[in-house]
Amino acid sequence: MKSYRKELWFNTRGRREFINITPQVEECLKESGVKEGFVLCNAMHITASVFINDDESGLHHDFEVWLEKLAPEKPYSQYRHNGFEDNADAHLKRSVMGREVIVAVTGGKLDFGPWERIFYGEFDGKRKKRVLVKIIGE
Ligand code: ZN
Repeated sequence: MKSYRKELWFNTRGRREFINITPQVEECLKESGVKEGFVLCNAMHITASVFINDDESGLHHDFEVWLEKLAPEKPYSQYRHNGFEDNADAHLKRSVMGREVIVAVTGGKLDFGPWERIFYGEFDGKRKKRVLVKIIGE
């Protein structure tokens, strides 16, 4: 069995951002040499997500509006977590959008449904943060 590990780094300009990381994950898969197996991809921070959805800007806007309704960033004072930090909303948004994805690898390719793409969801950016890519198989 082959085993591969890599960290992808991000430093977003804004507090919140969605980044299509599918090309980077495909590059990892190529490097790993795995043809049959699984890719695990997870945010290594508790204020960021990795999720699978459509690469469509309207939908990304809808996610932003919906998440702001569920867990508005401001006022910061509405959250007990805030005090030393101001990122309670980011913890909540991350929980809704998820920590990780697992994708099957078949014939050396990510075995996606027709519109599936992998995204990094940043909810407390403007600093360096990581995503773990772990690939196992043969
Ligand atoms: Zn926090």
